[in-house]
Amino acid sequence: MLELIQYLIQNPTAHYMAVGLISLCIGSFLNVVIYRTPKMMEQEWRTDCQFLLHPEQPIIDESKITLSKPDSACPKCSTPIRWYQNIPVISWVLLRGKCGSCQNPISIRYPLIELLTAVCSLIIVAVFGPTVQMLFGLVLTWILIALTFIDFDTQLLPDRYTLPLAALGLGINSYAVYTSPTASIWGYIIGFLCLWIVYYIFKIVTGKEGMGYGDFKLLAALGAWMGPMLLPLIVLLSSLVGAIIGIILLRIRKENQPFAFGPYIAIAGWIAFLWGDQIMKIYLGQ
Ligand SMILES: [Zn+2]
Repeated sequence: MLELIQYLIQNPTAHYMAVGLISLCIGSFLNVVIYRTPKMMEQEWRTDCQFLLHPEQPIIDESKITLSKPDSACPKCSTPIRWYQNIPVISWVLLRGKCGSCQNPISIRYPLIELLTAVCSLIIVAVFGPTVQMLFGLVLTWILIALTFIDFDTQLLPDRYTLPLAALGLGINSYAVYTSPTASIWGYIIGFLCLWIVYYIFKIVTGKEGMGYGDFKLLAALGAWMGPMLLPLIVLLSSLVGAIIGIILLRIRKENQPFAFGPYIAIAGWIAFLWGDQIMKIYLGQ
């Protein structure tokens, strides 16, 4: 194992190829996470509600959905997807974006998320090189991609991913991987509070709820990873990214769809994670 790592450090090309291939497969897994997590949560809510409202009635026997069960199948004809139909990007191209048995179209989003995961992972490698920062940077990137698309689809940022993300940030920064342990803790606290205050003022002024608690938890997690100094940049960038993507989406979609802020925080957080210090230096004119 050590020899393999040594080899990868000495051969940048092999290093990029290895990360590229692994992250394509991770992207394929992220598709499963993005597709199934909302279904898993819905099933849990239904079970909980049934239990609370009618404890005397037995809970409907549904087979529990997890990330690994049931096996992947075509949503239309239920034909199981074989391993050779599950190769990232290549299978989609070979199947020409259609199910092998019923010709039901398979969304182009699946290969695009796989490609996106690979591209973002390679950028992490290019910025950090073969370091511990790179390793955890990849983990952060993958979790942010999953959160972005789950929130985009459902306007939910599941605690089951935002809370461990924050814990991981606090944990690795106790060894000062990206910022000092103290900065990490303050990043976590301020990250949570600053959006919570915005949320509260918005609620008092308009009487509406503008964002969800998931947004605070995500910003808190990013604060734990990067420290409090980059939080203003993340908030500013997320408004900017939100404005740009919002305008594009308004043109594509005709009807008014519910608005999720989480993807913009995630994208802004990722940009700040990679180039935040440089952007701040340019901004402060140093
Ligand atoms: Zn099918």
